Amino acid sequence: MRPAVYAVLNLDAVQHNLQRVRYYAPEAKIMAVIKANGYGHGLLRIADALQTVDAFAVARVDEGIRLRKAGIKNRIAVLEGFTCAEELDELLHYQLDPVVHSFTQVDIFESRTEQDLCAIWLKFDTGMNRLGFKVNEFNAVYQRLNRCSIIRPPISLMTHLANADDKQDPATLKQISLFNETLSALAPEVQPKNERSIANSAGILAWKEALTDWVRPGVMLYGISPFSDSTGEQLGLKPIMSLHSRLIAVKPIAKGDKVGYAGSWICEKSTTLGVVAIGYGDGYPRYAKGGTPVLVNGQRVPLIGRVSMDMITVDLEAQPHAKPGDPVTLWGDGLPVEEIAVCADTIPYTLVCGVTQRVQIVEKTAL
Ligand SMILES: *Cc1c(COP(=O)(O)O)cnc(C)c1O
Repeated sequence: MRPAVYAVLNLDAVQHNLQRVRYYAPEAKIMAVIKANGYGHGLLRIADALQTVDAFAVARVDEGIRLRKAGIKNRIAVLEGFTCAEELDELLHYQLDPVVHSFTQVDIFESRTEQDLCAIWLKFDTGMNRLGFKVNEFNAVYQRLNRCSIIRPPISLMTHLANADDKQDPATLKQISLFNETLSALAPEVQPKNERSIANSAGILAWKEALTDWVRPGVMLYGISPFSDSTGEQLGLKPIMSLHSRLIAVKPIAKGDKVGYAGSWICEKSTTLGVVAIGYGDGYPRYAKGGTPVLVNGQRVPLIGRVSMDMITVDLEAQPHAKPGDPVTLWGDGLPVEEIAVCADTIPYTLVCGVTQRVQIVEKTAL
């Protein structure tokens, strides 16, 4: 018997979504972003499904090591780079390409004498104000790194867009032109052979100016929209993950009854209450508001009361014949994860990343 709570992963959708990336950025090399356990879908599972990409990106060294130990041969970029010499040694040992964004890293490179061991991504901060070198630092840093024997030329160059999911925000074009102009004006010897990368999913889908040698799709590979006003499906993507559970109790409740912790939901008119086996202990969002849609037997019913660790409650007025054991979908076919994110005041990224260990994964591939 299936466990009460499980996530179905439609791995054929991965290929479809990759084709969509190629459609939007036909000339670009693809660095598939699979950090945070492949956005909650499973690091190795997603890497396996994406073997044809030019490179993978993870956030941390240990994620890259997991990929190498599993036999992944593609280039792997480590987006947060390293913070000490020992971590650089691990990067070298496993042939992982760090993103270089800090003077600490430049100092460590300068202290090394080996030859051509490490390909790097030099990161330039064009407005995100998180990682990367500033406009006025960039030329000097580039020169210093260019003289480091351990670095294998040519140095690749990248920046990250802060607000590309807002199609109206002029900041995105400013970031792109700051990147391109600084590279050509400040460092004339930065030749076209130094490959460039700007676009995340929103950049790929909405800003053709951001398309350059490499693109870095993340969320769109999982079939999810980076925009708050559309779903992955509306963009021609296919969601990979759906999340499922079942009803475990069905009972009448009377006007005036309070439901759940803190009694925050008070029954206004007698109805039928359903208890579903899923909660924040599975990754269902604790802050999903009353009224958040839940599919019971494929039909929408509203969430009522607070989300508990292992259970939620729904109003079954529209489903008078529902009974314990009936199937429930929390997001998936007919209920986009983007819609649940809006109901929980969050973004779909956090929902798929947040599915916890106890949720059984069921892989679905074409028969
Ligand atoms: C996470 C990340 C991406 C992918 O972003 P999506 O919005 O998921 O496409 C790309 N580049 C960098 C530097 C990132 O950290």
